[in-house]
Amino acid sequence: MVQGGKRPNLLGKATPKIGVGPQFVENLDRDRGACAVPGCTPDFTMGATAQGFGQDPWSQDLLRDVDRLRQGRAPRELYTSSTRAGMMVWEAYARSDAGPVREHNEDSHLIDVDNGLFIVADGMGGHAFGEVASRLATDIVHRTLVGERDPEETRLQRPGDEPDPADVVRERMRYAMNQASLLIRKESEQRPERRGMGTTLVVLALDGEQAHLAHVGDSRAYLWRRGRLQRLTRDHTVVQQEVDAGRLTPELARLLPHKHILTQSVGFHGPVEPDTSTRMVDGGDVFILCSDGLTDPMDDVALQAVLHEVPSDQIANVLVEEALRRGTEDNVTVVAVFARD
Ligand code: CA
Repeated sequence: MVQGGKRPNLLGKATPKIGVGPQFVENLDRDRGACAVPGCTPDFTMGATAQGFGQDPWSQDLLRDVDRLRQGRAPRELYTSSTRAGMMVWEAYARSDAGPVREHNEDSHLIDVDNGLFIVADGMGGHAFGEVASRLATDIVHRTLVGERDPEETRLQRPGDEPDPADVVRERMRYAMNQASLLIRKESEQRPERRGMGTTLVVLALDGEQAHLAHVGDSRAYLWRRGRLQRLTRDHTVVQQEVDAGRLTPELARLLPHKHILTQSVGFHGPVEPDTSTRMVDGGDVFILCSDGLTDPMDDVALQAVLHEVPSDQIANVLVEEALRRGTEDNVTVVAVFARD
């Protein structure tokens, strides 16, 4: 078990420090200066929507980023970052690749080791609006979780009831994902050309010895612990429902053409009900977040076989390379978070 001091957590105020690569850092620093209201409170959401998307400095920056992505400069970098918390060091690595076929990379990801937050989002929607949706969702969830607490957001607490801190974090994650869904939905309703844009989201929040997960859609989280790979999320897909009901085998499900039809997505379906969970972290654990560009060409057995061969700091890199080598046509994104004690 990892012994360590309390990390900056998601329950109180935290200063956002972003560790995702120079371009993203620069953008968010600028946003922070420009946006009067930190985080994504309901007021901020309403304000952004009422002014019209693209009017406020924050969404203008976002649209500029998306333009850069549209011009073919899809991110191919490898990001690394680490932080020390008590006796434990979090190291995070990410790799995202548009793949050989797609013009755009509609995946987004975020690494914020200082706040223990890690996100992968896989956007969908025509004319590159999947990129808008996944970036918006990643940004809103991040800002909501590291921003000031909104007194309206948590309804778990009853008078005289001391809430379990883990419940509060999971509730905040649910709230943040619903905020993202609300804003993306409003944005797509206001602009017909953006109708149907949405995104998956998988969010990992590390808080002391606990790891909290929330997800919507078919981007996944895995835990690589002592040579064993465990899938931590269940896809929100029609075929997964069929597998759960015993009407389909997982092997057959992988072959079906409609395997990507989601039962839930952020933005497209309005309110979302993310699956959430909390587990204890052990030293040596590696949490892996990924888009389906990784898991389409590689089943869990194939992933495990590759993981046996690579050091923790190369997991994101090697998994993406392997998915590309196996001919993935999709965008592929992997974030690997290593707990070194
Ligand atoms: Ca995808």
